[in-house]
Amino acid sequence: MAADAQKAKVVIIGAGPGGYVAAIRAAQLGSGVVLVEKQLLGGTCLNWGCIPTKAMLACAEALETIREADEYGIQVGEAVPNLPAMVERKEKISEQLRNGIAQLLKANKVQFVKGTARITAPNQVVVQNDEGDTKIETEKIIVATGSEPARLPTFDFDQPTILTSTEGLALTQIPKTMIIVGSGVVGSEFATIFNALGTKVTMIELLPRILPTEDERVSQQMKRILNKKGIEILTETTIEEISEYKPTGLKAKLSNGETLEAEKLLVSIGRSLNSANLGLDEVGVELGKRGEIVVNDHMESSVPGIYAIGDVVGGILLAHVASFEGICAAENAMGMNSVMNYDVVPACIFTEPEIASVGCTPAKAEEKGIETRVGRFMFGGLGKALAMGKGQGFVQLVVDASTDKVVGCQIMSAHASDLIHELALAIKMGITASDIARTVHAHPSLAEAIMEAAEAAHGTAIHAAPARK
Ligand code: FAD
Repeated sequence: MAADAQKAKVVIIGAGPGGYVAAIRAAQLGSGVVLVEKQLLGGTCLNWGCIPTKAMLACAEALETIREADEYGIQVGEAVPNLPAMVERKEKISEQLRNGIAQLLKANKVQFVKGTARITAPNQVVVQNDEGDTKIETEKIIVATGSEPARLPTFDFDQPTILTSTEGLALTQIPKTMIIVGSGVVGSEFATIFNALGTKVTMIELLPRILPTEDERVSQQMKRILNKKGIEILTETTIEEISEYKPTGLKAKLSNGETLEAEKLLVSIGRSLNSANLGLDEVGVELGKRGEIVVNDHMESSVPGIYAIGDVVGGILLAHVASFEGICAAENAMGMNSVMNYDVVPACIFTEPEIASVGCTPAKAEEKGIETRVGRFMFGGLGKALAMGKGQGFVQLVVDASTDKVVGCQIMSAHASDLIHELALAIKMGITASDIARTVHAHPSLAEAIMEAAEAAHGTAIHAAPARK
Protein backbone atom coordinates (compact mmCIF):
# COMPACT_ATOMS: atom_id res chain seq x y z
CA MET A 1 0.00 0.00 0.00
CA ALA A 2 1.38 3.41 -0.94
CA ALA A 3 2.18 5.46 2.16
CA ASP A 4 0.32 8.73 1.48
CA ALA A 5 -3.20 9.05 0.20
CA GLN A 6 -3.48 11.27 -2.86
CA LYS A 7 -6.03 14.07 -2.90
CA ALA A 8 -8.37 14.83 -5.79
CA LYS A 9 -11.39 16.96 -6.57
CA VAL A 10 -12.95 14.28 -8.77
CA VAL A 11 -11.95 10.70 -9.59
CA ILE A 12 -13.36 9.17 -12.76
CA ILE A 13 -13.32 5.39 -13.07
CA GLY A 14 -13.09 4.16 -16.66
CA ALA A 15 -11.63 5.96 -19.68
CA GLY A 16 -14.16 5.09 -22.39
CA PRO A 17 -16.01 7.83 -24.32
CA GLY A 18 -17.94 8.54 -21.12
CA GLY A 19 -15.02 8.71 -18.70
CA TYR A 20 -12.35 10.48 -20.73
CA VAL A 21 -14.76 13.14 -21.98
CA ALA A 22 -15.98 13.67 -18.38
CA ALA A 23 -12.35 14.02 -17.28
CA ILE A 24 -11.59 16.68 -19.88
CA ARG A 25 -14.76 18.67 -19.12
CA ALA A 26 -14.06 18.49 -15.36
CA ALA A 27 -10.48 19.62 -15.95
CA GLN A 28 -11.72 22.56 -18.05
CA LEU A 29 -13.69 23.62 -14.96
CA GLY A 30 -10.97 23.19 -12.33
CA SER A 31 -7.94 21.25 -11.19
CA GLY A 32 -7.57 17.94 -9.34
CA VAL A 33 -9.04 15.53 -11.87
CA VAL A 34 -7.88 11.90 -11.77
CA LEU A 35 -8.86 9.37 -14.44
CA VAL A 36 -8.38 5.67 -13.72
CA GLU A 37 -8.40 2.98 -16.41
CA LYS A 38 -7.57 -0.70 -16.07
CA GLN A 39 -7.21 -1.49 -19.78
CA LEU A 40 -6.92 0.96 -22.65
CA LEU A 41 -7.77 4.62 -23.13
CA GLY A 42 -10.91 4.96 -25.21
CA GLY A 43 -12.62 1.92 -23.66
CA THR A 44 -14.93 -0.31 -25.67
CA CYS A 45 -15.71 2.35 -28.25
CA LEU A 46 -12.19 2.91 -29.40
CA ASN A 47 -10.67 -0.53 -28.89
CA TRP A 48 -13.40 -3.18 -29.28
CA GLY A 49 -16.50 -1.33 -30.49
CA CYS A 50 -17.38 1.69 -32.62
CA ILE A 51 -14.04 2.45 -34.23
CA PRO A 52 -12.71 -1.10 -34.89
CA THR A 53 -16.04 -2.16 -36.43
CA LYS A 54 -16.11 0.94 -38.61
CA ALA A 55 -12.51 0.29 -39.70
CA MET A 56 -13.45 -3.28 -40.68
CA LEU A 57 -16.65 -2.08 -42.37
CA ALA A 58 -14.56 0.35 -44.43
CA CYS A 59 -12.49 -2.64 -45.62
CA ALA A 60 -15.71 -4.52 -46.41
CA GLU A 61 -17.01 -1.55 -48.40
CA ALA A 62 -13.73 -1.21 -50.30
CA LEU A 63 -13.91 -4.90 -51.21
CA GLU A 64 -17.50 -4.59 -52.43
CA THR A 65 -16.66 -1.48 -54.45
CA ILE A 66 -13.74 -3.26 -56.14
CA ARG A 67 -15.98 -6.23 -56.90
CA GLU A 68 -18.49 -3.87 -58.50
CA ALA A 69 -15.74 -2.05 -60.44
CA ASP A 70 -17.23 -3.27 -63.73
CA GLU A 71 -20.34 -1.19 -63.04
CA TYR A 72 -18.13 1.92 -62.89
CA GLY A 73 -16.41 0.97 -66.12
CA ILE A 74 -13.20 -0.16 -64.44
CA GLN A 75 -11.51 -3.49 -65.03
CA VAL A 76 -9.62 -4.93 -62.08
CA GLY A 77 -8.50 -8.38 -61.09
CA GLU A 78 -10.04 -10.42 -58.31
CA ALA A 79 -10.31 -8.59 -54.98
CA VAL A 80 -8.68 -10.80 -52.35
CA PRO A 81 -9.15 -9.82 -48.70
CA ASN A 82 -6.05 -9.96 -46.49
CA LEU A 83 -7.58 -10.20 -43.02
CA PRO A 84 -4.34 -9.85 -41.00
CA ALA A 85 -3.58 -6.62 -42.91
CA MET A 86 -7.10 -5.33 -42.27
CA VAL A 87 -6.78 -6.14 -38.55
CA GLU A 88 -3.41 -4.37 -38.46
CA ARG A 89 -4.93 -1.29 -40.11
CA LYS A 90 -7.76 -1.32 -37.56
CA GLU A 91 -5.25 -1.59 -34.67
CA LYS A 92 -3.24 1.33 -36.02
CA ILE A 93 -6.34 3.53 -36.18
CA SER A 94 -7.22 2.66 -32.57
CA GLU A 95 -3.64 3.33 -31.48
CA GLN A 96 -3.59 6.71 -33.21
CA LEU A 97 -6.81 7.70 -31.47
CA ARG A 98 -5.57 6.43 -28.07
CA ASN A 99 -2.46 8.58 -28.47
CA GLY A 100 -4.69 11.54 -29.30
CA ILE A 101 -6.67 11.07 -26.08
CA ALA A 102 -3.45 10.73 -24.05
CA GLN A 103 -2.28 14.09 -25.46
CA LEU A 104 -5.62 15.73 -24.70
CA LEU A 105 -5.53 14.46 -21.10
CA LYS A 106 -2.03 15.81 -20.70
CA ALA A 107 -2.91 19.16 -22.24
CA ASN A 108 -5.87 19.47 -19.88
CA LYS A 109 -3.76 18.43 -16.85
CA VAL A 110 -5.85 15.34 -16.12
CA GLN A 111 -3.86 12.92 -13.99
CA PHE A 112 -4.11 9.49 -15.63
CA VAL A 113 -3.66 6.43 -13.42
CA LYS A 114 -3.44 2.93 -14.89
CA GLY A 115 -5.08 0.36 -12.63
CA THR A 116 -8.30 -1.15 -11.32
CA ALA A 117 -10.34 1.18 -9.15
CA ARG A 118 -12.65 0.34 -6.28
CA ILE A 119 -14.78 2.70 -4.22
CA THR A 120 -13.99 2.16 -0.54
CA ALA A 121 -16.00 5.10 0.85
CA PRO A 122 -18.18 7.82 -0.72
CA ASN A 123 -15.07 10.01 -0.89
CA GLN A 124 -12.36 7.42 -1.33
CA VAL A 125 -11.13 5.30 -4.23
CA VAL A 126 -8.40 2.69 -4.10
CA VAL A 127 -6.50 1.92 -7.28
CA GLN A 128 -4.74 -1.40 -7.60
CA ASN A 129 -1.93 -1.92 -10.09
CA ASP A 130 1.54 -3.49 -10.36
CA GLU A 131 2.88 -0.98 -7.86
CA GLY A 132 0.34 -1.97 -5.21
CA ASP A 133 -2.69 -0.09 -3.89
CA THR A 134 -3.04 3.69 -3.99
CA LYS A 135 -5.67 5.43 -1.89
CA ILE A 136 -7.19 8.58 -3.37
CA GLU A 137 -9.28 10.90 -1.18
CA THR A 138 -11.72 12.75 -3.40
CA GLU A 139 -14.68 15.10 -3.21
CA LYS A 140 -16.60 13.50 -6.07
CA ILE A 141 -16.54 10.21 -8.00
CA ILE A 142 -17.81 9.51 -11.52
CA VAL A 143 -18.29 5.82 -12.39
CA ALA A 144 -17.84 5.21 -16.13
CA THR A 145 -16.99 1.50 -16.18
CA GLY A 146 -19.06 0.65 -19.25
CA SER A 147 -20.14 -2.82 -20.29
CA GLU A 148 -18.97 -6.13 -21.72
CA PRO A 149 -20.45 -8.55 -24.22
CA ALA A 150 -23.32 -10.50 -22.67
CA ARG A 151 -22.65 -14.24 -22.66
CA LEU A 152 -25.33 -16.92 -22.95
CA PRO A 153 -24.83 -19.59 -20.29
CA THR A 154 -25.69 -22.30 -22.85
CA PHE A 155 -22.50 -21.64 -24.84
CA ASP A 156 -18.99 -22.56 -23.77
CA PHE A 157 -17.02 -19.36 -24.32
CA ASP A 158 -13.75 -21.17 -23.64
CA GLN A 159 -14.13 -22.89 -27.02
CA PRO A 160 -12.21 -21.16 -29.83
CA THR A 161 -15.30 -21.53 -32.02
CA ILE A 162 -17.48 -19.31 -29.80
CA LEU A 163 -16.86 -15.60 -30.18
CA THR A 164 -18.11 -12.34 -28.78
CA SER A 165 -17.72 -9.13 -30.78
CA THR A 166 -14.30 -8.66 -29.15
CA GLU A 167 -12.85 -11.93 -30.50
CA GLY A 168 -14.73 -11.42 -33.77
CA LEU A 169 -12.69 -8.28 -34.37
CA ALA A 170 -9.41 -10.07 -33.69
CA LEU A 171 -9.81 -13.02 -36.09
CA THR A 172 -6.98 -13.29 -38.55
CA GLN A 173 -8.35 -16.17 -40.60
CA ILE A 174 -11.55 -15.77 -42.55
CA PRO A 175 -14.02 -18.45 -41.44
CA LYS A 176 -15.81 -20.22 -44.27
CA THR A 177 -19.02 -20.29 -42.25
CA MET A 178 -20.33 -18.28 -39.30
CA ILE A 179 -23.50 -18.30 -37.24
CA ILE A 180 -24.38 -14.94 -35.73
CA VAL A 181 -26.74 -15.12 -32.77
CA GLY A 182 -28.69 -11.88 -32.45
CA SER A 183 -29.59 -9.58 -35.33
CA GLY A 184 -29.39 -6.23 -33.57
CA VAL A 185 -26.95 -3.47 -34.46
CA VAL A 186 -23.76 -5.38 -33.64
CA GLY A 187 -24.94 -8.66 -35.23
CA SER A 188 -25.96 -6.88 -38.44
CA GLU A 189 -22.64 -5.00 -38.67
CA PHE A 190 -20.66 -8.22 -38.18
CA ALA A 191 -22.83 -9.99 -40.78
CA THR A 192 -21.98 -7.18 -43.22
CA ILE A 193 -18.24 -7.45 -42.50
CA PHE A 194 -17.90 -11.23 -42.75
CA ASN A 195 -20.24 -11.55 -45.71
CA ALA A 196 -18.00 -9.15 -47.64
CA LEU A 197 -14.94 -11.19 -46.62
CA GLY A 198 -16.54 -14.25 -48.21
CA THR A 199 -17.89 -16.03 -45.11
CA LYS A 200 -21.25 -17.78 -45.48
CA VAL A 201 -23.20 -16.06 -42.68
CA THR A 202 -26.39 -17.31 -41.00
CA MET A 203 -28.13 -14.97 -38.57
CA ILE A 204 -30.34 -16.39 -35.86
CA GLU A 205 -32.93 -14.07 -34.30
CA LEU A 206 -35.34 -14.88 -31.52
CA LEU A 207 -37.81 -12.13 -32.48
CA PRO A 208 -39.97 -11.98 -35.63
CA ARG A 209 -37.74 -9.47 -37.40
CA ILE A 210 -34.12 -8.36 -37.61
CA LEU A 211 -33.10 -5.00 -36.09
CA PRO A 212 -36.16 -5.38 -33.87
CA THR A 213 -35.91 -1.95 -32.28
CA GLU A 214 -35.89 -0.15 -35.65
CA ASP A 215 -38.84 1.02 -37.73
CA GLU A 216 -40.54 -1.97 -39.37
CA ARG A 217 -39.99 -0.69 -42.92
CA VAL A 218 -36.27 -0.32 -42.16
CA SER A 219 -35.89 -3.85 -40.84
CA GLN A 220 -37.91 -5.37 -43.70
CA GLN A 221 -35.84 -3.60 -46.34
CA MET A 222 -32.55 -4.46 -44.58
CA LYS A 223 -33.61 -8.13 -44.42
CA ARG A 224 -34.14 -8.11 -48.21
CA ILE A 225 -30.76 -6.45 -48.75
CA LEU A 226 -28.89 -8.89 -46.48
CA ASN A 227 -30.66 -11.87 -48.07
CA LYS A 228 -29.67 -10.58 -51.51
CA LYS A 229 -26.04 -10.50 -50.39
CA GLY A 230 -26.37 -14.20 -49.51
CA ILE A 231 -26.84 -13.87 -45.75
CA GLU A 232 -29.34 -16.37 -44.44
CA ILE A 233 -31.67 -15.04 -41.73
CA LEU A 234 -33.69 -17.29 -39.44
CA THR A 235 -36.16 -15.28 -37.35
CA GLU A 236 -38.22 -16.64 -34.45
CA THR A 237 -35.47 -19.20 -34.03
CA THR A 238 -33.11 -20.01 -31.18
CA ILE A 239 -30.18 -22.36 -30.67
CA GLU A 240 -31.31 -25.12 -28.35
CA GLU A 241 -27.87 -26.58 -27.81
CA ILE A 242 -24.44 -26.92 -29.31
CA SER A 243 -24.41 -30.64 -29.96
CA GLU A 244 -20.75 -30.84 -30.92
CA TYR A 245 -17.67 -28.67 -30.32
CA LYS A 246 -14.56 -29.32 -32.40
CA PRO A 247 -11.49 -27.08 -32.63
CA THR A 248 -12.45 -26.37 -36.24
CA GLY A 249 -16.19 -25.91 -35.88
CA LEU A 250 -19.42 -26.75 -34.14
CA LYS A 251 -22.87 -28.19 -34.67
CA ALA A 252 -25.87 -26.25 -33.40
CA LYS A 253 -29.33 -27.69 -32.85
CA LEU A 254 -31.95 -25.08 -33.69
CA SER A 255 -35.44 -24.67 -32.27
CA ASN A 256 -36.87 -25.33 -35.76
CA GLY A 257 -35.45 -28.88 -35.65
CA GLU A 258 -32.58 -28.17 -38.06
CA THR A 259 -28.90 -28.73 -37.29
CA LEU A 260 -26.46 -26.10 -38.47
CA GLU A 261 -22.70 -26.53 -38.78
CA ALA A 262 -20.29 -23.61 -38.76
CA GLU A 263 -16.63 -22.82 -38.19
CA LYS A 264 -17.48 -19.98 -35.80
CA LEU A 265 -20.45 -18.79 -33.81
CA LEU A 266 -20.55 -15.12 -32.84
CA VAL A 267 -22.84 -14.13 -29.99
CA SER A 268 -24.22 -10.58 -30.20
CA ILE A 269 -27.16 -10.56 -27.82
CA GLY A 270 -26.43 -7.33 -25.96
CA ARG A 271 -24.18 -6.13 -23.17
CA SER A 272 -23.77 -6.84 -19.49
CA LEU A 273 -23.07 -3.80 -17.35
CA ASN A 274 -19.83 -3.39 -15.38
CA SER A 275 -21.14 -2.52 -11.93
CA ALA A 276 -19.81 -5.52 -9.99
CA ASN A 277 -16.63 -5.49 -7.84
CA LEU A 278 -16.58 -1.71 -7.62
CA GLY A 279 -17.61 -1.45 -3.97
CA LEU A 280 -20.96 0.09 -4.94
CA ASP A 281 -23.03 -2.09 -2.60
CA GLU A 282 -20.77 -1.28 0.32
CA VAL A 283 -21.21 2.47 -0.07
CA GLY A 284 -24.96 2.11 -0.69
CA VAL A 285 -25.24 2.96 -4.40
CA GLU A 286 -28.59 1.70 -5.69
CA LEU A 287 -28.51 -0.73 -8.60
CA GLY A 288 -31.40 -1.70 -10.90
CA LYS A 289 -32.45 -5.18 -11.99
CA ARG A 290 -29.83 -5.46 -14.75
CA GLY A 291 -27.09 -4.18 -12.45
CA GLU A 292 -27.39 -0.67 -13.87
CA ILE A 293 -26.47 2.21 -11.58
CA VAL A 294 -29.64 4.17 -10.91
CA VAL A 295 -29.09 7.89 -11.53
CA ASN A 296 -31.19 11.05 -11.60
CA ASP A 297 -31.20 13.58 -14.45
CA HIS A 298 -28.01 15.13 -13.01
CA MET A 299 -26.34 11.68 -13.48
CA GLU A 300 -25.99 11.43 -9.71
CA SER A 301 -26.51 8.07 -8.01
CA SER A 302 -28.40 7.41 -4.80
CA VAL A 303 -25.23 8.44 -2.93
CA PRO A 304 -24.65 12.21 -3.18
CA GLY A 305 -21.33 12.98 -4.82
CA ILE A 306 -21.12 9.64 -6.69
CA TYR A 307 -22.15 10.04 -10.30
CA ALA A 308 -22.46 7.39 -13.03
CA ILE A 309 -22.50 7.69 -16.81
CA GLY A 310 -22.39 5.68 -20.02
CA ASP A 311 -23.27 2.04 -20.54
CA VAL A 312 -23.13 1.27 -16.81
CA VAL A 313 -26.30 3.33 -16.23
CA GLY A 314 -28.05 1.04 -18.71
CA GLY A 315 -29.94 3.64 -20.76
CA ILE A 316 -29.04 4.18 -24.41
CA LEU A 317 -25.84 2.18 -24.94
CA LEU A 318 -24.12 4.49 -27.40
CA ALA A 319 -20.77 6.26 -27.27
CA HIS A 320 -22.13 9.75 -27.93
CA VAL A 321 -24.72 9.29 -25.17
CA ALA A 322 -21.93 8.25 -22.78
CA SER A 323 -19.97 11.40 -23.71
CA PHE A 324 -22.94 13.72 -23.18
CA GLU A 325 -23.71 12.06 -19.86
CA GLY A 326 -20.03 12.48 -18.99
CA ILE A 327 -20.19 16.21 -19.68
CA CYS A 328 -23.35 16.53 -17.57
CA ALA A 329 -21.86 14.58 -14.62
CA ALA A 330 -18.54 16.46 -14.79
CA GLU A 331 -20.28 19.84 -14.78
CA ASN A 332 -22.36 18.83 -11.76
CA ALA A 333 -19.37 17.36 -9.96
CA MET A 334 -17.59 20.69 -10.48
CA GLY A 335 -20.45 22.69 -8.98
CA MET A 336 -22.64 23.49 -11.99
CA ASN A 337 -26.28 22.53 -12.42
CA SER A 338 -26.54 20.49 -15.64
CA VAL A 339 -29.46 18.30 -16.63
CA MET A 340 -29.19 15.36 -19.04
CA ASN A 341 -31.75 15.38 -21.82
CA TYR A 342 -32.41 12.36 -24.06
CA ASP A 343 -35.08 13.92 -26.30
CA VAL A 344 -32.91 14.01 -29.43
CA VAL A 345 -30.39 11.18 -29.76
CA PRO A 346 -29.43 10.03 -33.24
CA ALA A 347 -28.67 6.31 -33.57
CA CYS A 348 -26.81 4.78 -36.50
CA ILE A 349 -26.22 1.30 -37.85
CA PHE A 350 -23.28 0.89 -40.19
CA THR A 351 -24.64 -1.77 -42.49
CA GLU A 352 -24.44 -1.32 -46.26
CA PRO A 353 -26.41 0.87 -46.80
CA GLU A 354 -26.30 2.61 -43.44
CA ILE A 355 -29.34 3.17 -41.26
CA ALA A 356 -29.83 6.25 -39.11
CA SER A 357 -32.75 7.40 -37.04
CA VAL A 358 -33.72 10.16 -34.64
CA GLY A 359 -36.92 10.95 -32.78
CA CYS A 360 -40.14 9.00 -33.32
CA THR A 361 -40.92 6.31 -35.85
CA PRO A 362 -44.48 6.55 -37.23
CA ALA A 363 -45.47 3.73 -34.83
CA LYS A 364 -43.90 5.46 -31.83
CA ALA A 365 -45.59 8.75 -32.71
CA GLU A 366 -48.93 6.96 -32.87
CA GLU A 367 -48.26 5.39 -29.46
CA LYS A 368 -47.65 8.88 -28.11
CA GLY A 369 -50.96 10.03 -29.57
CA ILE A 370 -49.34 12.31 -32.16
CA GLU A 371 -51.26 12.52 -35.41
CA THR A 372 -48.63 12.39 -38.12
CA ARG A 373 -47.98 12.99 -41.77
CA VAL A 374 -45.17 10.84 -43.18
CA GLY A 375 -43.08 12.02 -46.10
CA ARG A 376 -40.92 9.48 -47.92
CA PHE A 377 -38.40 9.72 -50.69
CA MET A 378 -36.54 6.86 -52.33
CA PHE A 379 -32.84 7.24 -53.13
CA GLY A 380 -33.51 5.36 -56.39
CA GLY A 381 -34.97 8.66 -57.67
CA LEU A 382 -32.02 10.82 -56.69
CA GLY A 383 -29.31 11.83 -59.15
CA LYS A 384 -26.40 11.91 -56.67
CA ALA A 385 -27.29 8.50 -55.24
CA LEU A 386 -27.44 6.95 -58.71
CA ALA A 387 -24.20 8.65 -59.76
CA MET A 388 -22.55 7.13 -56.69
CA GLY A 389 -24.03 3.70 -57.45
CA LYS A 390 -25.92 3.91 -54.14
CA GLY A 391 -29.58 4.00 -55.18
CA GLN A 392 -30.86 1.77 -52.37
CA GLY A 393 -32.88 3.06 -49.45
CA PHE A 394 -35.16 5.90 -48.45
CA VAL A 395 -35.77 8.87 -46.18
CA GLN A 396 -38.87 8.73 -44.01
CA LEU A 397 -39.80 11.98 -42.30
CA VAL A 398 -42.34 11.90 -39.49
CA VAL A 399 -44.16 15.19 -39.05
CA ASP A 400 -46.67 16.29 -36.41
CA ALA A 401 -49.80 16.94 -38.52
CA SER A 402 -51.10 19.67 -36.21
CA THR A 403 -47.91 21.78 -36.01
CA ASP A 404 -45.92 20.62 -39.09
CA LYS A 405 -42.94 20.15 -36.74
CA VAL A 406 -40.56 17.30 -37.51
CA VAL A 407 -40.82 14.66 -34.76
CA GLY A 408 -38.75 11.87 -36.27
CA CYS A 409 -36.77 10.61 -39.21
CA GLN A 410 -35.44 7.28 -40.43
CA ILE A 411 -32.88 7.12 -43.22
CA MET A 412 -31.47 4.12 -45.02
CA SER A 413 -28.78 5.14 -47.48
CA ALA A 414 -25.10 5.71 -48.08
CA HIS A 415 -23.88 8.23 -45.48
CA ALA A 416 -27.16 8.04 -43.53
CA SER A 417 -25.08 8.51 -40.36
CA ASP A 418 -23.98 11.92 -41.65
CA LEU A 419 -27.35 12.95 -43.09
CA ILE A 420 -29.32 12.36 -39.89
CA HIS A 421 -27.94 15.40 -38.09
CA GLU A 422 -29.96 17.88 -40.17
CA LEU A 423 -33.01 16.18 -38.67
CA ALA A 424 -31.58 15.98 -35.15
CA LEU A 425 -31.14 19.74 -35.24
CA ALA A 426 -34.59 20.19 -36.80
CA ILE A 427 -36.26 18.26 -33.98
CA LYS A 428 -34.22 20.01 -31.30
CA MET A 429 -35.05 23.46 -32.67
CA GLY A 430 -38.73 22.70 -33.41
CA ILE A 431 -38.26 23.16 -37.16
CA THR A 432 -41.17 22.37 -39.50
CA ALA A 433 -41.30 20.23 -42.64
CA SER A 434 -42.01 23.46 -44.56
CA ASP A 435 -38.80 25.02 -43.17
CA ILE A 436 -36.81 22.04 -44.51
CA ALA A 437 -38.64 22.00 -47.83
CA ARG A 438 -37.97 25.74 -48.29
CA THR A 439 -34.29 25.49 -47.41
CA VAL A 440 -32.27 25.31 -50.61
CA HIS A 441 -30.37 22.01 -50.62
CA ALA A 442 -27.36 21.73 -52.91
CA HIS A 443 -27.64 19.68 -56.09
CA PRO A 444 -26.57 17.00 -56.56
CA SER A 445 -26.40 15.82 -52.97
CA LEU A 446 -27.81 12.99 -50.88
CA ALA A 447 -29.36 15.63 -48.59
CA GLU A 448 -31.78 16.57 -51.37
CA ALA A 449 -33.68 13.41 -50.41
CA ILE A 450 -34.48 15.03 -47.04
CA MET A 451 -35.84 18.12 -48.75
CA GLU A 452 -37.93 15.92 -51.06
CA ALA A 453 -39.24 13.88 -48.10
CA ALA A 454 -40.24 17.16 -46.40
CA GLU A 455 -42.11 18.17 -49.58
CA ALA A 456 -43.63 14.68 -49.74
CA ALA A 457 -45.04 15.16 -46.24
CA HIS A 458 -47.17 17.92 -47.83
CA GLY A 459 -47.86 15.91 -51.00
CA THR A 460 -45.77 18.36 -53.05
CA ALA A 461 -42.57 16.43 -53.83
CA ILE A 462 -41.14 17.56 -57.16
CA HIS A 463 -39.34 14.33 -58.03
CA ALA A 464 -41.98 11.79 -57.01
CA ALA A 465 -45.26 10.97 -58.69
CA PRO A 466 -48.21 12.31 -56.69
CA ALA A 467 -50.07 9.69 -54.65
CA ARG A 468 -53.12 8.39 -56.56
CA LYS A 469 -56.35 9.99 -55.38
P1 FAD B 1 -16.69 1.78 -22.15
O1 FAD B 1 -16.36 2.29 -23.47
O2 FAD B 1 -17.06 0.35 -22.03
O3 FAD B 1 -15.45 2.09 -21.21
C1 FAD B 1 -15.41 1.68 -19.89
C2 FAD B 1 -13.98 1.61 -19.44
O4 FAD B 1 -13.94 1.40 -18.03
C3 FAD B 1 -13.22 0.44 -20.05
O5 FAD B 1 -12.07 0.92 -20.70
C4 FAD B 1 -12.86 -0.45 -18.87
O6 FAD B 1 -11.60 -1.05 -19.00
C5 FAD B 1 -12.84 0.55 -17.73
N1 FAD B 1 -13.08 -0.03 -16.41
C6 FAD B 1 -14.07 -0.90 -16.05
N2 FAD B 1 -13.97 -1.19 -14.74
C7 FAD B 1 -12.91 -0.50 -14.26
C8 FAD B 1 -12.30 -0.40 -12.98
N3 FAD B 1 -12.78 -1.04 -11.92
N4 FAD B 1 -11.20 0.38 -12.84
C9 FAD B 1 -10.70 1.06 -13.91
N5 FAD B 1 -11.23 0.98 -15.14
C10 FAD B 1 -12.33 0.23 -15.31
N6 FAD B 1 -21.70 3.07 -30.02
C11 FAD B 1 -21.90 4.07 -30.90
O7 FAD B 1 -22.32 5.16 -30.50
N7 FAD B 1 -21.62 3.91 -32.23
C12 FAD B 1 -21.17 2.75 -32.73
O8 FAD B 1 -20.93 2.63 -33.94
C13 FAD B 1 -20.95 1.67 -31.83
N8 FAD B 1 -20.47 0.49 -32.28
C14 FAD B 1 -20.25 -0.51 -31.38
C15 FAD B 1 -19.76 -1.73 -31.86
C16 FAD B 1 -19.51 -2.77 -30.98
C17 FAD B 1 -18.98 -4.08 -31.51
C18 FAD B 1 -19.74 -2.57 -29.59
C19 FAD B 1 -19.45 -3.68 -28.62
C20 FAD B 1 -20.22 -1.37 -29.11
C21 FAD B 1 -20.49 -0.34 -30.01
N9 FAD B 1 -20.99 0.88 -29.56
C22 FAD B 1 -21.23 1.89 -30.46
C23 FAD B 1 -21.31 1.12 -28.14
C24 FAD B 1 -20.19 1.92 -27.46
O9 FAD B 1 -18.96 1.28 -27.65
C25 FAD B 1 -20.49 2.08 -25.98
O10 FAD B 1 -21.78 2.61 -25.81
C26 FAD B 1 -19.48 3.01 -25.32
O11 FAD B 1 -18.17 2.52 -25.45
C27 FAD B 1 -19.81 3.19 -23.85
O12 FAD B 1 -18.89 4.05 -23.27
P2 FAD B 1 -18.54 4.00 -21.72
O13 FAD B 1 -17.56 5.09 -21.50
O14 FAD B 1 -19.78 3.98 -20.94
O15 FAD B 1 -17.87 2.57 -21.46
